[in-house]
Amino acid sequence: MHELSVTESILTIVLKHAQTHKAEKVLAVNLKIGELSELVGDCIQHYFDYLSKGTIAEGAIIDVERSPIVFQCKDCENTFGVSLRDSRDFACPRCSGVKVSLLSGREFYIKDITIS
Ligand SMILES: [Zn+2]
Repeated sequence: MHELSVTESILTIVLKHAQTHKAEKVLAVNLKIGELSELVGDCIQHYFDYLSKGTIAEGAIIDVERSPIVFQCKDCENTFGVSLRDSRDFACPRCSGVKVSLLSGREFYIKDITIS
């Protein structure tokens, strides 16, 4: 049920944004979610439809953009992307080092809100 609380926060931010800009309607919300995040776009849309009923954000489309997982090797400073579909091996492809830090992949934020 993680998506429910996340969606509540999204809606709060969206409505506040709409109010600030004196919007009549919220058309779309563009979210950026890292591939490592377990948030599911479809669930967010589902909860959003439910929570936004009766507000100006009702009917808005939740558009999810997945950002890739990027690591940096602590040994050779090589940065490399990892696709969860391909492997779960997070070792550095250049030096096989396993001391890596995550540069991107866990982010979650609202990238854009379309209002009218
Ligand atoms: Zn390396």
